Amino acid sequence: MSYNLILLGPPGAGKGTQAKVLTERFGIPQISTGDILRAAVKDQTPFGVRAKAFMDQGALVPDDLVIDIIRERLSMADSAHGFILDGFPRTVAQADVLSKMLSDNGKSIDHVISITVDNDELIQRVIGRLTCKGCGRGYHLKFDLPAVEGKCNVCGADLYQRDDDKEETMRARLVAYASQTAPLIEYYTKLGLVRPVDGLGAIQEISNTLIRVVEG
Ligand code: AMP
Repeated sequence: MSYNLILLGPPGAGKGTQAKVLTERFGIPQISTGDILRAAVKDQTPFGVRAKAFMDQGALVPDDLVIDIIRERLSMADSAHGFILDGFPRTVAQADVLSKMLSDNGKSIDHVISITVDNDELIQRVIGRLTCKGCGRGYHLKFDLPAVEGKCNVCGADLYQRDDDKEETMRARLVAYASQTAPLIEYYTKLGLVRPVDGLGAIQEISNTLIRVVEG
């Protein structure tokens, strides 16, 4: 089956983790603007240098930069039969452009999965988070340690702490989420697309719920 999905939720809600599960299950790509931006920062492209200043402060990168990324990514062949947007859109302007981009190609969004977790839990999750340099899988210093310290269970690459996962930056990201991204819940509710999912609990149980929601 082909599904065009959006995963919406604050930083630390589990969007990346769940996107990876949905990718396996449905054979559709995870498109994470955060991952694409981090790769550009690492490669020090002009675009990455511009984006880094915003990311380091926990602020959103300007819409035009992110929209260019998505336009290019959605035109790639692997997105033709479905995709999971993880971390995009994050503003109403991005959502408007996305809807135009899709409708120009005779497509639309099937479900907007809105993952909810309270702020105290989000901060605990994010400040203990470790991320794999290779495949992007997340780990946690308290709740989900890798089998070998500092190495990914899946691909063996090194784990690191994201610069923006420090507590102060995380708090700024939560403020950006509340003011710029949370309004998208109402935006997509009006379109009848929002499927709320409680993001608290075992990863596997949440995945099962998501799969049920997508498959209807
Ligand atoms: P994420 O990995 O999704 O938490 O994104 C990390 C950072 O990348 C965010 O805090 C923003 O600075 C930037 N970013 C990712 N996606 C977007 C987006 N759709 N719009 C604006 N900034 C974004």
